[in-house]
Amino acid sequence: MFENKERTDLAELGEFGLIDHLTTNFKIRHETSVKGIGDDAAVLNSPDRQVLISTDLLLEGVHFDLAYVPLMHLGYKAVQVNLSDIYAMNGIAAQITFSIGLSSKFPLEAVEEIYKGVELACNQFNIDLIGGDTSSSKQGLVISVTSIGYAAAGDVVYRNGANEGDLICVSGDLGGAYVGLQILEREKQIFLENPKIQPDLEGKDYIIERQLKPEGRRDIVDLLAQMKIVPTSMIDVSDGLASELMHICKQSEKGCTIYEEKIPIDPMTYETARELGIDPTVCALNGGEDYELLFTIKQADYDRLKHDVDISIIGHITDQASGCRMVSKSNVVHELKAQGWSAFKK
Ligand SMILES: [Mg+2]
Repeated sequence: MFENKERTDLAELGEFGLIDHLTTNFKIRHETSVKGIGDDAAVLNSPDRQVLISTDLLLEGVHFDLAYVPLMHLGYKAVQVNLSDIYAMNGIAAQITFSIGLSSKFPLEAVEEIYKGVELACNQFNIDLIGGDTSSSKQGLVISVTSIGYAAAGDVVYRNGANEGDLICVSGDLGGAYVGLQILEREKQIFLENPKIQPDLEGKDYIIERQLKPEGRRDIVDLLAQMKIVPTSMIDVSDGLASELMHICKQSEKGCTIYEEKIPIDPMTYETARELGIDPTVCALNGGEDYELLFTIKQADYDRLKHDVDISIIGHITDQASGCRMVSKSNVVHELKAQGWSAFKK
């Protein structure tokens, strides 16, 4: 994917030279970042808030395919996906560490592309890059991101707080990232069979972007704070709606009923899924990588949230014995099964 006439060998810079080179543009913006890059460890200060920490490890060939993921998008997505976990706790992320393992096939210019994506994500979400590590990798690209966020003690939202009668809400729309991936996979196969054929992504920009350039929903965390709503439980949709709902229900020791007709699906997702012969609802339930926020609220909070077009109310929490159920458009009750995307399936 990375083609550039300039090729600077990483060995020319050495590890510390490389880190200095890649991180010169990153500025410190938060008071909580006392010391960032440049010592043995970063120093953070948070006298009156709870600290949230989340880590992801991403491996080439397991979590991403460089055949269709541009390097800048990869850096951007790696950060966004990790920040999403902080937002899922109802916190605001402030710092990240970014670590990378590189095989010798990557010149400096390729690594710079990845860091451009990291920088874009940091600028967009007001994040300080405070550290990381670089190493050579025998095979394939390895990325690890750790996010640090903050929330007042009473504002942290866990997966286990849902109560019977709570309303189940989800931000944005679902299934798009999965359908976008199917399109990218299809075009990759066509390209492998005949490299002369240009990829046909015409009219699919929204779902391709959902796959390649997802955004953590910090705006929903801000919106909930403005509305003075603290959800009773929350999780981000990384593995598909069904799997995330079941996490909330299991940890809260509850059941749920959702309604197929209420699940938000973008028209492009819907039409493309149909074209590919897959059920759009299945894409939303089991597709994953949408990075929307799934949360439950008390019924008393309904009036404050009901007019927000970016939040859909898709069902309610029931008792545990009722299980996790979906009422289909034709009024048939299905038991939800978690068939979420998993890196361990392959
Ligand atoms: Mg998560």
